Amino acid sequence: MRAGGVVAFPTETVYGLAANAFDPQAVRAVFAAKGRPADNPLIVHLASKNDIPLVTSGYDKKYDALIAAFMPGPLTLVMPRKSCIPDEVTAGLDTVGVRIPSSPVGSRFLAACKVPVAAPSANLSTHISPTTAEHVYEDMKGRIPLIIDGGECSVGIESTVLDITGETPVVLRPGAVTAEMIAGVLNVDVKAHSGKVIAAAPAPGMKYKHYAPACDCVVASDMSAALACYAERLAEGRSPMILCRSENVKKSGGARCIALGQDDAEVCRNMYAALHNAEKIADYIICEDLGDKGVAASVMNRVNKAAGGKRI
Ligand code: AMP
Ligand code: MG
Repeated sequence: MRAGGVVAFPTETVYGLAANAFDPQAVRAVFAAKGRPADNPLIVHLASKNDIPLVTSGYDKKYDALIAAFMPGPLTLVMPRKSCIPDEVTAGLDTVGVRIPSSPVGSRFLAACKVPVAAPSANLSTHISPTTAEHVYEDMKGRIPLIIDGGECSVGIESTVLDITGETPVVLRPGAVTAEMIAGVLNVDVKAHSGKVIAAAPAPGMKYKHYAPACDCVVASDMSAALACYAERLAEGRSPMILCRSENVKKSGGARCIALGQDDAEVCRNMYAALHNAEKIADYIICEDLGDKGVAASVMNRVNKAAGGKRI
């Protein structure tokens, strides 16, 4: 890492593709390996809270409560950038996204690097994010020299991105740390992630297609809509697959299903692996709408993108 190499490493959210954040050439190699557009910024990953001053020129001290509550953890804070962070990392923005992963293997890797680590998710640009080392290997074989295998990611979707540079903190990307949880800790209004808020403070990365499986994908409003769609696709000679909460598998009447889990945390952890599996063994993915509350809403943010907004 200190010699300018690129390494895939595990975190509790998804696997990352790491480079020394102070080395513009190493960071460019990450963009090349992913095929990622240069104007989509990377998050800087740190081993410890003590390293935060290395990458930011400062932030409002009221946000120390968030750092205490959620770092290490699946929260990225967008802060004023320090000039030692190259444009390659931030896509030329004057802010930097900062995160401290909590997974044991990821933390040990970051501590061993001894430099801040710029990393996007370790998938090819626009493909599904990886939650196992095998997922990374499928996309990155021949493109990077090393994958550190830390097993399955415990959270399973990308971090919540919170911009704390303005008057009101704004969730740019929803994740396992919800706007309600943030507002609860800060005791101030937080702009939740919604179409309107994003339009007012767009994250540069948000305009790109993300999380797309290799086959068609659609969100079904409930299990009966999913089953109707399933029957139509079968009649067309297609090979559909339903993704749903475990409790709904018994309603499937023999339709092929992948059970996502019993509760929101389990569904979150399993969603990307289910998409990875489904794109291999089916040509049409039908995902049950998981609702608009809490972590399920964050998971649906990714699924709606995977479906390109298609709903039935
Ligand atoms: P990835 O690691 O592939 O999920 O990509 C990192 C994402 O973090 C980007 O697509 C942006 O949405 C967000 N991000 C990183 N840095 C910033 C920043 N300085 N300002 C706003 N959003 C950021
Ligand atoms: Mg990504």
